[in-house]
Amino acid sequence: MRFASLVKNSSDVVMVTEPDTTIRYASPSAHRVLGFEPEELEGRRFAELIAPDDRTRALSFLTAMAEGEGHVGLTEYRVRHRDGTDLFVETLRTNLLKDPNVKGIVLNTRDISERKQFEEQLSHQAFHDQITGLANRALFQDRVSHALVRQTRDGNPVAVLFMDLDDFKTINDSLGHAAGDQLLVALAGRLVGRLRTADTAARLGGDEFAVLLEDGGDEGMTAADVAGRILETLEEPFDLDGTEVYARASIGISVADPQSPVGSADELLRNADVAMYMAKEGGKARYQLFEPAMHDTALRRLELRAAMQRAIDHDEFRLFYQPVIELPTGKITGVEALIRWFDPEKGIIPPLDFIPLAEETGLIVPIGRWVLMEACKYAARLAETFAALDLHMAVNLSARQIARPEIVDEVREALTASGLDPGKLVLEITESVMIHDMDLAIGRLKELKTLGVQLAIDDFGTGYSSLNYVRRFPVDILKVDKSFIDGVTEGGESSALTAAVIELASILNLKPVAEGIERADQLEQLIAMKCDLGQGFLFAKPLPTDELEDLVTEHVAMRLEADALADRLD
Ligand code: C2E
Ligand code: MG
Ligand code: MG
Repeated sequence: MRFASLVKNSSDVVMVTEPDTTIRYASPSAHRVLGFEPEELEGRRFAELIAPDDRTRALSFLTAMAEGEGHVGLTEYRVRHRDGTDLFVETLRTNLLKDPNVKGIVLNTRDISERKQFEEQLSHQAFHDQITGLANRALFQDRVSHALVRQTRDGNPVAVLFMDLDDFKTINDSLGHAAGDQLLVALAGRLVGRLRTADTAARLGGDEFAVLLEDGGDEGMTAADVAGRILETLEEPFDLDGTEVYARASIGISVADPQSPVGSADELLRNADVAMYMAKEGGKARYQLFEPAMHDTALRRLELRAAMQRAIDHDEFRLFYQPVIELPTGKITGVEALIRWFDPEKGIIPPLDFIPLAEETGLIVPIGRWVLMEACKYAARLAETFAALDLHMAVNLSARQIARPEIVDEVREALTASGLDPGKLVLEITESVMIHDMDLAIGRLKELKTLGVQLAIDDFGTGYSSLNYVRRFPVDILKVDKSFIDGVTEGGESSALTAAVIELASILNLKPVAEGIERADQLEQLIAMKCDLGQGFLFAKPLPTDELEDLVTEHVAMRLEADALADRLD
C-alpha cells in the first residue's frame, strides 16, 4: 500500500505498458503532465501520444528491451499533450516483464520542457549574435560547411556574400553606440527581408555581415542579384530616433560549384572577404565577385597593412626634409617634410609605396597625426637654431586626413604642443583631393585657415582644375607639378603651359613653387618666368635632420661670407 501511495502521488507519470506500448496502468499525475485522466489512457497505445517526428526514435527505445533483461534506460522526446501542444519529456524505462508482480515495462516520465527551453536559449546564445539575433560566426561557418558537403554531392552551387558597412565608424562616433546598434538591428531586418528562408544571414562581428545562399545559382548570377538587391535596400535611409542615416556597404561574393570547388568553409569565407576588399577599393557601395587572381594582390596588401601597423607601434617612420629655395637668390626659405619608412628588413620604403594603402585602411590617421606633431616640433627647433632665416615647414595632408573634421583640432594641437608660429606652417593638399568633394574641401580649408596656417595646392596641373575653382579655394601657394618643370626648357607647348600656370598663380595672388628642379637650365628658365620659389634635386634631396642642419649651417655661413664680401666691395 505504501508503494501504491508513492506511485499515485509521484510527480512523474508512472505507467506500466505491454511490449507494444499498450498502457495497462497510468498514475494520476498523467492528468497534470499530459492532460489525460488515467482511465482515458489505459488500453491505449502510448506510441500514439508520441510526437510524429520523434515516434520512430522513441519507440525503438521504449520497446528495444522489451524482450531482454531488466535494463534501465533514459531518453528524451516529445509527446503530444491533450490540448494538442508538444512537450518535452524524459522517460526512464525499466523492463519488469519477468517480475511476477508487475509483468510489464515501467515508464517513468517527467516533463522537461523548462529545462529544454533553457538549454535552447543557451545554445541560441552560443550561436547567435546578441544584438541582431542573426547567426553568429560559429553557426555560419557550420552552415557553410554543411552546404559544401551537400554541394559536392549534388553539384548545386553554394555562394557566400560578405558585407561590410562603409562608414559605420563615422555613424558610431557621431551618433553614439546605441544608435549604431539600432542601425545594425534595422539593417539585419532588411537583410533577412531580402533572403529566402533557406538562406542564412549572419553578423560576423562589428559591421560585418555574411549571407549563405544554399543555391548560389549559375556562376554566381543569383548571388550577384541578391547582392544587388541588398545594396538597393540601403538606398532608403534608416531612421535612428528621428535622425535619417544612410548606410552604404561593400559586398564580396564567392561561389563554390563544380567548376570552382573550394576545400573548406574557411576558404570560401576568405575568398568572399578578399572580394569584399576589392569592392571597397573599387569605390565602395558595390559588390564584387571573387577571382583567384585577387588573392595575391590581397595577400600582399594584408601583409603590408600588418607591417604598417607594426611600423606605427615600433616607431619606424622618419621625416626627411627637402629645402625650398628662393630661386633668384638661392636663399633657403623653408623645408617640406616627406615621410620615409625604415623597415628593419626591407630598408627605406618611399611614401608612394605605402601612403595610398595607409589612406585606404585608415592607418593614415595615426601616421598623419605623428607627421604633424613631429614636423611642427622640428620646425620649432629650426626656428630657434636658425632664427634669422624665418624657415617655413610644409606638411603633406592626404584626402582621408582632410575628410575628417578632427584634422582641425589635430593641427591646432600640433601647433600648441610645439609652440610653432602658425604662420610658419604650410599644409599641402593635392589637387585631386579638392576636386573630389569640392564643398567639403573648401569648408575644411576655411576652418584650417582660421588657425593662421598657410595652405598650398600640391601637384598642381595633374588634376583637372579649372580657373574657376582654384579661385574658390582659400589657398596661398600653388606647387607646380614636376611634369611641367620637366619640359620647361623644351620650348613649345610645355614651357608655354608652365608659363601660363605661373602667371595664373600671380593673377590669383598665389605664390608659385616649382617642384622637381633637376638642372641649371630649368632654374634659369624659371627665374626668367618669374617663378620665385622652387625645390628639387638641383639644390638638395630630401635629407635626414642632421644633414639638413649641416646644409643650412653651411648656407648661413656662405651668406655671411657673401654679405661680408659685399660690404667690403661697397
Ligand atoms: P609631393 O608632396 O609632391 O613631394 C614631392 C616629391 O617629389 C617627393 O617624393 C620628393 O622626394 C620628390 N622630388 C623632389 N625634388 C625632386 C627632383 O628634383 N626630382 C625628382 N625626381 N623628384 C623630386 P617623395 O618623398 O617620394 O614623396 C612622394 C609623395 O608622397 C609626396 O609628393 C606626397 O604627396 C606624399 N607624401 C610624402 N610624405 C607624406 C606625408 O607625410 N603625408 C602624406 N599624406 N603624404 C606624404
Ligand atoms: Mg608636397
Ligand atoms: Mg608635389
